[in-house]
Amino acid sequence: MERIRAGRAYCALCGTAIRPDDDALLTPDFLAADTDHLWRFADAAMHRACFLVWDRRKEFVARYNRLARRWAALGGSPTRMTSEGDVVASAVAERDESATRQ
Ligand SMILES: [Zn+2]
Repeated sequence: MERIRAGRAYCALCGTAIRPDDDALLTPDFLAADTDHLWRFADAAMHRACFLVWDRRKEFVARYNRLARRWAALGGSPTRMTSEGDVVASAVAERDESATRQ
């Protein structure tokens, strides 16, 4: 988030500068292969508004969550990405979802 706070980040989706007071997110660095068509969107800054209307958003989130389940199965701490692009501890997220169903 340092780049965003310093006003030096550019949105990976629209290409314009992200101002320090913009609602922005920094995606996790989770794709290793630079041949991957989603690679340039990992470890990238973007406006939240751009992320929410991104045509590959669902694919990107599903990709992260599939890998996150694999890391958790290997003993890592369980996390998941919400549809808004935030990475949260998955136990907390599941509790939140069951709370909204009641
Ligand atoms: Zn943008």
